[in-house]
Amino acid sequence: PAAQAGLYTASDQITLLTQDNVESVLVNSTAAAVVEFYASWCGHCVSFSPIYKSLARDITEWRPAVTLAAIDCASEENRKICVDYKIRGFPSIKFFQAYSKEDSYGTTYSGFPRDISGLRHAIIDSLEAHGEPWPPACPPLEPISQAEVDVFFGTNPVQYLALIFEESKSYIGREVILDLLQFENITVRRVLSSEVGLVTKLGVTEFPSCYLYYPDGNFSRLQVSREARTFYTYALMRLPGVVRSGRPAVISSVVITNSSAEPWRSFNRTRVYMADLESTLHYALRVELAAHSLIKGQALTSLKNYIAVLEKYFPGRSVVMNLLKSVNSWLQNTTADQISYEAFREMLDNKAQVPNTALPEGERWVGCQGSQPHFRRYPCGVWTLFHVLTVQANSRGSSNPQEVLRAMRNYVKNFFGCRACAEHFETMARENLGAVDSLPLAMLWLWSAHNRVNSRIAGALSEDPHFPKIQWPPPEMCHSCHSASSDGEHSWKTYRVVSFLSSYFSSSRILNDYLE
Ligand code: FAD
Repeated sequence: PAAQAGLYTASDQITLLTQDNVESVLVNSTAAAVVEFYASWCGHCVSFSPIYKSLARDITEWRPAVTLAAIDCASEENRKICVDYKIRGFPSIKFFQAYSKEDSYGTTYSGFPRDISGLRHAIIDSLEAHGEPWPPACPPLEPISQAEVDVFFGTNPVQYLALIFEESKSYIGREVILDLLQFENITVRRVLSSEVGLVTKLGVTEFPSCYLYYPDGNFSRLQVSREARTFYTYALMRLPGVVRSGRPAVISSVVITNSSAEPWRSFNRTRVYMADLESTLHYALRVELAAHSLIKGQALTSLKNYIAVLEKYFPGRSVVMNLLKSVNSWLQNTTADQISYEAFREMLDNKAQVPNTALPEGERWVGCQGSQPHFRRYPCGVWTLFHVLTVQANSRGSSNPQEVLRAMRNYVKNFFGCRACAEHFETMARENLGAVDSLPLAMLWLWSAHNRVNSRIAGALSEDPHFPKIQWPPPEMCHSCHSASSDGEHSWKTYRVVSFLSSYFSSSRILNDYLE
């Protein structure tokens, strides 16, 4: 299909335009739209595509106000659309206002910037210039005046008014306004440094800086490690009482009233628990795998490699390691081209009763508990286990940087029960897993793939409101992992992320609470 052959896939958070959806996206839509018209054969388009993908992740929270879309004009089925929109060269980027008419051609960004912040600023400029009717999901972007602040809480039943003080040419305030548009209980506005009354009243001396105004008239400065967009966004999203629209309010971040039948196990949110890792192994090998009564061919090879990697790198208790060892040697010695799950299960359950050898039965989630039974648990355990394994491979000096990633990739491909997840994961793996040529890069590949998933599914119904999907680790967990250039552009210090991951997921930090 056309969508497959193009430069983008559904997992890029880019709306792929086709004959079937072009009208609903571009005509009379409640959101504005930015569309890249490209041709998959055009070299400039190919080299621009990673930037466009990064832009999509960067402004994923803006989606209700502005849709980011793309269309492959090289595909036969799309040719008419590209002709109708008078596309002559590739890539072309056009902005379509919300509620555009059928005969609108959009506005072309001629000589558009080839970097994420430049594109983001261009989109903000277009939104600000947006005439009536304004896209309903887009909050006001213009600066707020002292007079408006004074009467704000009279008409706005929110808990916080966040004011970003900045110079008029700065985009940070408007970026944060858009970043928070899906969150309730907070309004974000920008205040220009020329708004002397407010600047004096709050004693503002630094631009940019962010202040919180409360309904009782008090105010305080927002504490962040850097005065920049991402730092404000993260901090504001995590204020007590601020929740994603349409979600139940988060009552307290410590005490969660849990509606699942199991007793709640209190835990430290910044630690890894062995109980989660063992529960993950139990679920994978006794539940997920049980769906395959006969395992053969590629699936059998995947299982062998997965168990081999677990035997080598899982930092488990000795009983569990003994079990993995016996299962592994049984599997590796099998010459049959297929095995039954039943035979595998006999080994797994240690039917031969070798002493000191067992994989505990049952699930006992700790760090992966969800506030409701349908949240978190197994997929959370899978990610945690995978990160632990890449970190172990690095600290034990695996001779093959892709060893662990390949084993997990093939396990996911053949067995992971969430098939849509498996497809997305495979798409990411196909994209660039092959380029991983060192052990730290393997850790980073998984970290970055996980963050891509976090960004894609932030706000989805599957998100536990008590565990919002964020780009991880947030600044309060690892200051030095984050950096901002002089214009406030966020970037990751990947060598710091490597050291953070190495220590966060290291075997010596794993807690043994709640084990049988
Ligand atoms: P998880 O995302 O499961 O993370 C678990 C823990 O890992 C977090 O609590 C945090 O401590 C840590 N963490 C978070 N981010 C990172 C990071 N970047 N690097 C290192 N550690 C991190 N769900 C979908 O709806 N659609 C999908 O396409 C999808 N694909 C998936 C693919 C795979 C391979 C897996 C294992 C899961 C996938 N899921 C998908 C499930 C989803 O990613 C979450 O696992 C699930 O929603 C539970 O979320 P959670 O809040 O427990 O956090």
